[in-house]
Amino acid sequence: MNKTKMIATIGPSSKSKDVIREIIKEGVDVIRINMSHSTFEEAKEVILNIREINRELSNVTGIMIDTRGPEIRINDLEERKVKLEQGKNIRIVKSKIKGNSDMISITLPEALDYIRIGQHILLNDGSVNLEVVSKSSDALICEIKNDGFIKGKCSVNIPNADFDLKFLSDYDRETIKFAVLMQVDYLALSHVNNELDILDINDLLIELDDGHLQIISKIENKNAIESIDAILKVSDGVMIARGDLGVEMEIEKIPSIQKKIANLAKENGKICIIATEMLSSMQDNPRPTRAEVSDVANSVLDGTDAIMLSSETAIGKYPIETVKTTNKIIDEIEKEIDYNDLLLEFSRQDKLSIEDAICYSVVDSANRVKASSIVCATISGKTAKTISHFRPSSSVIAISPDEKTVSGLTINYGIIPIKVPMMDTTDEIIDVSIKTAKQILNLKEKDKIVIAGTFPNKEVDYTNFMKIEEIK
Ligand code: PEP
Repeated sequence: MNKTKMIATIGPSSKSKDVIREIIKEGVDVIRINMSHSTFEEAKEVILNIREINRELSNVTGIMIDTRGPEIRINDLEERKVKLEQGKNIRIVKSKIKGNSDMISITLPEALDYIRIGQHILLNDGSVNLEVVSKSSDALICEIKNDGFIKGKCSVNIPNADFDLKFLSDYDRETIKFAVLMQVDYLALSHVNNELDILDINDLLIELDDGHLQIISKIENKNAIESIDAILKVSDGVMIARGDLGVEMEIEKIPSIQKKIANLAKENGKICIIATEMLSSMQDNPRPTRAEVSDVANSVLDGTDAIMLSSETAIGKYPIETVKTTNKIIDEIEKEIDYNDLLLEFSRQDKLSIEDAICYSVVDSANRVKASSIVCATISGKTAKTISHFRPSSSVIAISPDEKTVSGLTINYGIIPIKVPMMDTTDEIIDVSIKTAKQILNLKEKDKIVIAGTFPNKEVDYTNFMKIEEIK
């Protein structure tokens, strides 16, 4: 079982129940629905299907919903795909029209007032570059700087834009209410600029009385990079959204940004997701390129919790093959990881909380006795997350009576979340831990497991015991 988790984005290629069942069987841990592309009815159908499949397979799959965020897109085009030719001009008009190669409109026409002559506008994830050459009261005239294709609803990026879009739109507010109503596990916030954007969402979640939805801030512009420390403090995790990031910033900076953010997330004990163009060529081909295989493997070595597949599974021709391939790459590269080395990085921290110190010792002991697994009993999920954060060499079976806690652990590195009945005594925790580990890992006599948890004692709410058991 791989420790690095896999997230798959659902779209026209994968929304059928059969494909969802297959990708879950092939190892997808979390399914993502991007509300930039999905209606609430479509999203609801997918969520209900995932829950039915989970019951059928006795499985746990996490669910993530992405907000649309303050983004700009092209409005619909007359044709599915339109070719733009280098050297020609194209008008971006304020009135809403069905676009073609001479004229397009965008979802936020007011933005045109703030764009200056000489500024660049990037279409379709940066694949077409326009330069504004003149302006009138109702349009921008732009020179097309390279040949390329655009599609209806494709992205529009305006690097160094001089205007601020309102972060929380009415549509995003509806999306968040929907996410709470459907009890999904993760809310991925698009186009976050700074920590204040997240604090606004937290206020909304308090208003909605939600205590479970975990906030993943998508890092996809320069402002977010500049505020990364503050964003990490108020988020449950970050997604390195390399698609928009590669358009909004110099593309050659992406690998070092990826490493820096993955390290910062680890230091802060927050979830890290590396996203976009992981196996991009598999949208059209059954095999990835060598460079893509290396990219997935390097992301695993960067210590990410999860790798996210986007267009590959949403609109690609080979969603199931892409998942299988990602799984194989992760499996192969994880064999090369020296977990003792990873733990050594944490040994330099001179001050740990009681809980962190116990979880560190749990991981250290498990590595040293070559335990088959760490089993931790957790109510809120905190113990399991802290143990996962120290990157143990064995899997971490997280047992919890709380269904939301269980599905909220699906994204964390190395955690196998399992729902169990409520346990009232320490003896019960130990008993259930051994039984669950035996069941899941097919343990043999003399195999060892390390059990961690909290004595069922109302005065203590942190991990306070560890036990090493030899299987009899
Ligand atoms: C990205 O830009 O890399 C990303 C993950 O965002 P989205 O898929 O929403 O465009």
